[in-house]
Amino acid sequence: MTQVVLATKNLGKVRELQRILEPFSVDLVMAAYEPGPETGLSFEDNAVAKAREGMAATGLPALADDSGLTVLAMRGMPGIFSARWAGRHGDDQANLDLLLAQLSDVPDGVRGASFVCAAAYCMPSGVTGVVTAELTGCVIREPRGSNGFGYDPVFVPSGYDVTSAELPPEEKDAISHRGKAFRELAPLFAEALAAESE
Ligand code: IMP
Repeated sequence: MTQVVLATKNLGKVRELQRILEPFSVDLVMAAYEPGPETGLSFEDNAVAKAREGMAATGLPALADDSGLTVLAMRGMPGIFSARWAGRHGDDQANLDLLLAQLSDVPDGVRGASFVCAAAYCMPSGVTGVVTAELTGCVIREPRGSNGFGYDPVFVPSGYDVTSAELPPEEKDAISHRGKAFRELAPLFAEALAAESE
């Protein structure tokens, strides 16, 4: 099985990506290096930069994602800043509390939001690819559920009456921005892997 480095240290993402990529027979190696700062101005730029960094650090083909929550009433923020919205990278609780406080005066009915995920690969040759997908829904007022990570406890996907933190993990994967993006990326990644070994 081909070894592929998963260029993320976010444990919530690692768990999801291990499940999502399970059917695609790759041997996932965890990132053992310190990732640099995210300096891109789009999900796609950041995802490709993370995949490049993972490949450069290991010499292996790399998979990465950049994702976040875009809230309509906030003109698309926190967006690419979702992981560090409250100022400290990866403080999920502080990020969620700040978002709820900022939206406290926004009426029900105009609290639409989307989770967005750009999924990227980078090959040892330097060839890259990226695919973006989203999950639409809305932000509720009180956290509910304990599955998932990040903003899951306050996000209700369109057509559901539970949060993505209340969905069983496999059900979230089936509809999620990350699930959709990586399932779409997988055949392109397989083609790129095959081209690399020609
Ligand atoms: P990244 O590591 O820069 O891509 O940041 C992703 C951030 O977006 C996470 O730290 C979460 O705050 C948020 N996020 C992305 N995907 C999800 C998800 O599936 N559920 C909840 N929060 C998410």
